[in-house]
Amino acid sequence: MKKIYVGDMTRIEFQERIKEAKCVILSAGSCEQHGYHMALDTDNVLGHYLAMEAAKKTDSIVMPNINYGQVWSARNYPGSISLSNDTLKAVFKEIILSLENFGAKNILLLAGHNGNAQAMKDVARELVNSHGYRNVWYFQQTTKKELLKLLEAEIPCNCVHAGEMETSMMLAVRPDLVDLSKAEKDFPTLPPEAKYRPVSWDEYITVGSYGDPSLATAEKGKIFLDSLINEIVHLINDIM
Ligand SMILES: [Zn+2]
Repeated sequence: MKKIYVGDMTRIEFQERIKEAKCVILSAGSCEQHGYHMALDTDNVLGHYLAMEAAKKTDSIVMPNINYGQVWSARNYPGSISLSNDTLKAVFKEIILSLENFGAKNILLLAGHNGNAQAMKDVARELVNSHGYRNVWYFQQTTKKELLKLLEAEIPCNCVHAGEMETSMMLAVRPDLVDLSKAEKDFPTLPPEAKYRPVSWDEYITVGSYGDPSLATAEKGKIFLDSLINEIVHLINDIM
């Protein structure tokens, strides 16, 4: 069987696989607080899982994750390590230049953590300008409206972080990193000034997870994940 994860390959295997692979997927997650009940590595675990499952269905390969991201909003909670957009963009850019050098057909930046999405878009634009690369793509996690109906509680502040949905996805992939007995509800309202100045989460939410994570189930998580995987597969197979 063909190898998918680049970290498992020898240089010879990599040299062959990168030339035939439809896409090279680079997931960028975060080391970030996920409430009282879930591990700091959550975005890295979920991003890598999405990348690997999509790669299996598209003859693509998966790079080792970038395990740190832009987590400005959550930066004051213990465990959140925040890179600036400039640092993240520099890391993306230099990895992309290496991959282009080795003959990648397409490169997909996958946001395991949505705070990385802005840096992804910016670097893709800059590489069009500087190098004419039109084979750098980005993917950010969103959830289709019909799937949101699966949720039992509302999503406060339009944020799913560490709540019912994200916790469900972790229960489906790495239940050992979730402890629902420690989950606490938090349904804050966004301060009105958040529309007009940067407001970090610790200014209005204590627990650091949005909504009621105790409503999470692995079954719901599998449905959310499958929908995201299908969307990535569609992007690689039908749009690239
Ligand atoms: Zn997360």
